[in-house]
Amino acid sequence: MVRTRFAPSPTGQLHLGNLRIAVFNHLFARHHGGAFVIRVEDTDRDRNVPGSLEAILEDLAWAGLHWDEGPDREGPFGPYRQSERADRHRAVAMGLLAGGRAYRCFCSDERLATLREEGEGGAPGVGCPGGCQVGDAAEAERRVLAGEAAAIRFPVPDARIEFHDAVRGSVSFHGGDVGDFVILRADGRPTYNFAVVVDDIDMEITHVIRGAGHLSNTPKQVLLFDALAAPRPVFAHLPMVLGADRKKLSKREGASGIGELRAEGYPPDAVVNYLSLLGWSPGDDREVLTREELESELTLDRVGASDAVFDPEKLRWMSAQHLALLSLQELVQALEPFLDRARFPMEGEELLRSVEAIRTRLHTLGEVNDTLAILHPGPAVLESGVREVREEGAEARRIVGGVRAALAALSSWEADVLGQAVRDAGKEVGARGPSLFHPVRLALCGTRSGPDLGLVLAALGRETTLERLQAAE
Ligand code: GLU
Repeated sequence: MVRTRFAPSPTGQLHLGNLRIAVFNHLFARHHGGAFVIRVEDTDRDRNVPGSLEAILEDLAWAGLHWDEGPDREGPFGPYRQSERADRHRAVAMGLLAGGRAYRCFCSDERLATLREEGEGGAPGVGCPGGCQVGDAAEAERRVLAGEAAAIRFPVPDARIEFHDAVRGSVSFHGGDVGDFVILRADGRPTYNFAVVVDDIDMEITHVIRGAGHLSNTPKQVLLFDALAAPRPVFAHLPMVLGADRKKLSKREGASGIGELRAEGYPPDAVVNYLSLLGWSPGDDREVLTREELESELTLDRVGASDAVFDPEKLRWMSAQHLALLSLQELVQALEPFLDRARFPMEGEELLRSVEAIRTRLHTLGEVNDTLAILHPGPAVLESGVREVREEGAEARRIVGGVRAALAALSSWEADVLGQAVRDAGKEVGARGPSLFHPVRLALCGTRSGPDLGLVLAALGRETTLERLQAAE
């Protein structure tokens, strides 16, 4: 049974970079019919931001990345908040200590900082930078009982540490570059690398899929899995996502919150699809994939190791592609919360036809009002359209009049007959191409070009169409 996890720290809002990690974990778990777990890494109390977890969960739910177990959904491996697992972390650290797999370190933070500044300590091989002895366990226990503060450190062998990464293949670090590391601080709090491993073991996580930034933590973590006699999970470190300048993604580019994308009306399926392509590809030139396709196709062997570049224009394009996949009914429903009803008091059939006319111009749901304004641009634009027709002279006005008369005589008001009716009317009055369409469009919407004319006429309806044409005659 595949089990993946997304492990956010509640220190702020979710941005595209970490949503991408959640996307891969979610899709991969679904691909294998496995479980997707949310674990909250909230042990750094000073950095926790109230309300942040709720906002993160809301964004994940918006993205459709539903989780099987998590802080708000009890499961067999809870609790899912790291802060509630502190007793367990301490017990496991004590177990390593008792088994001689870890040692007490009495160095104060100040002493370690001084050593670092002086360039001393941290020499390759066993031993804490301050020289605490691994072997002297009995002496160490006496000092602790006497009230001395001590952290618990994990000794790293002076040897190559090798592990397999599903994206990068074999990866190795030298123990001397890693150095003995703290697993439990003197105040009893576990460190990140330790808590993660204990929790991944307890939660039976089979695949650790995360950003390449965590690669340097992995040698520490594999040593802990081994020391705890637990099988190592499959590690997959996804490539970095860079900005267009190939530097770290800036706030302006895409490190901004998911809340902004939601507010702008990016469909969640488009966002998930876009993020899935930052590092993965389906193996052919398809780019627009439905969620079902992503779930059935996403595997780790198609994840590449080279950096991905975030392109906001591509995301906007992807958004338009996904809006185009919706049926008209679905699109109208998705647009409802974005519609400015005071500006466009439309309902039912009128709304449907209006959206049908403008839908190819929409990139995001939030653009609906500015796009509907193509059909209903307001009196100033309509008046300037009329003025332009007048300025073109009697011929233009005669054409508008001819078209109006032909449309008025129609017994049906459907997009396909309307477009043809305008062309037929053009033949009657001896006009075609721009000399026919420009005056008609100027009279209708105030501009010379626009969406398919038949769709525009269907959206405006008989009454409004005839009124606007008449005003320009
Ligand atoms: N909490 C870590 C982070 O936000 C994730 C840890 C992990 O995936 O191992 O980067």
